Amino acid sequence: MSFSHLGLSDKVLSAIGAAGYTTPTPIQDQAIPHVLARKDVLGIAQTGTGKTAAFVLPMLTMLEQGRARARMPRTLILEPTRELAAQVQEHFIKYGAKHKLTVALIIGGVSFDDQISKLTRGVDVLIATPGRLLDHSERGRLLLSGVELLVIDEADRMLDMGFIPDIERIGKLVPFTRQTLFFTATMPPEIQRIADTFLHNPVRVEVSRPATAAVTVKQLLVATGREPEDKRETLRQLIRTSDGFKNAIIFCNRKREVALLHRSLVKHGFNAVALHGDLDQSERTAALDQFRRGDAKLLVASDVAARGLDIPAVSHVFNFDVPHHADDYVHRIGRTGRAGLSGTAITIVAPADKRAVAAIETLTGQTIGWQGAPQRETAEPHEHRVHGRSRGGRNGTQRPSERGPKRQPERAPERSPAPVARIDEARRQRRRPEPVPDVADADNHLPAFLLRPVRVKA
Ligand code: AMP
Repeated sequence: MSFSHLGLSDKVLSAIGAAGYTTPTPIQDQAIPHVLARKDVLGIAQTGTGKTAAFVLPMLTMLEQGRARARMPRTLILEPTRELAAQVQEHFIKYGAKHKLTVALIIGGVSFDDQISKLTRGVDVLIATPGRLLDHSERGRLLLSGVELLVIDEADRMLDMGFIPDIERIGKLVPFTRQTLFFTATMPPEIQRIADTFLHNPVRVEVSRPATAAVTVKQLLVATGREPEDKRETLRQLIRTSDGFKNAIIFCNRKREVALLHRSLVKHGFNAVALHGDLDQSERTAALDQFRRGDAKLLVASDVAARGLDIPAVSHVFNFDVPHHADDYVHRIGRTGRAGLSGTAITIVAPADKRAVAAIETLTGQTIGWQGAPQRETAEPHEHRVHGRSRGGRNGTQRPSERGPKRQPERAPERSPAPVARIDEARRQRRRPEPVPDVADADNHLPAFLLRPVRVKA
């Protein structure tokens, strides 16, 4: 099966040929003809399935007719993170080289001025994160009433990041008659509700998780002690001794931990960069570029910042923390073993992590082998009290109220400091960076409550 039967224009077909793609992926095969027929599409697919090209290629074909007007973008793509937005822009640059279309990236953390001048000249494709888009719209720099096609990408990640109210507000600014393409990896009830409000008679296209991750990624568990320094030492050993190690993405559950671990690794002489939502955009871009180029061998990242990143040739993924949500595990290990290369994903398991590992094994239907001795101890009840949480996967046997904490929204400040009435205090609170303790202190850290005198009942 080739791309030729999908209805794409000659220009797009020649760009696909130049990119070296010969066969459409299942989501491309199923979605592209419907997009070209101007139907709404509900795509249930995660990154790695080729879903970006599934909307970029038909959009390029459709945009060959008509032209942009000042401040009125013709198409709008909403992405949860700046990195994903930049990745989509790269697709337009790659496949649209001969199209002479104006593509604008409207993301937080960068200056307004360039964005404003681009918008004023008129854009065919606007790729945006929701906060900055609303900022421009509220200041009258942008009119969304000319949008003919709206793409909402990674909708479930938007939900995790607290963007749904923004998305709903944007939905009221675009014309009712526009075409909508809606992509999500999972379909929790809240996402189903949003899909129902945004889509009209959608064609549902569902593809399974990319087989490559499961087939080409070797998965292992490694036991470690209960203290943070035990985990850091285990990680250092793994980096030094793992077979075939070239570079690695190291995942932590919290951005505070990302910063801490990054500083610790640098202190120990490793060539590491960090990626999390409290860094400003230039730092995030610089970190990614250094890692992509191979100047840095280690990228310490949080789930939200690294979601969907397409970095070829990553030899290892280390889960410094076992993810709170089992489906994040699948996403994380999918950062290695890409494009037919083999990869290794090693999860560091502390005594309290065994239930979280069980949830991952339930979700993936695979038992993950241990490298070295298995983690023998089970979590002691007090550990759960100390952390104030229990762990487990989304599809584990726990009730929702027993599940791990909701992810911390990771947005760095997207908007300008000027007061915008609708930004409520809760949103501002979410954006405040967490203080990062000194690494040396953290290694010897004794929680304050352990130093308090204990009162014994008579
Ligand atoms: P995505 O799911 O959009 O993040 O795409 C994952 C990767 O697959 C990207 O590196 C794309 O360039 C690549 N890709 C997309 N479509 C195809 C295709 N038809 N054949 C080969 N690779 C593709």
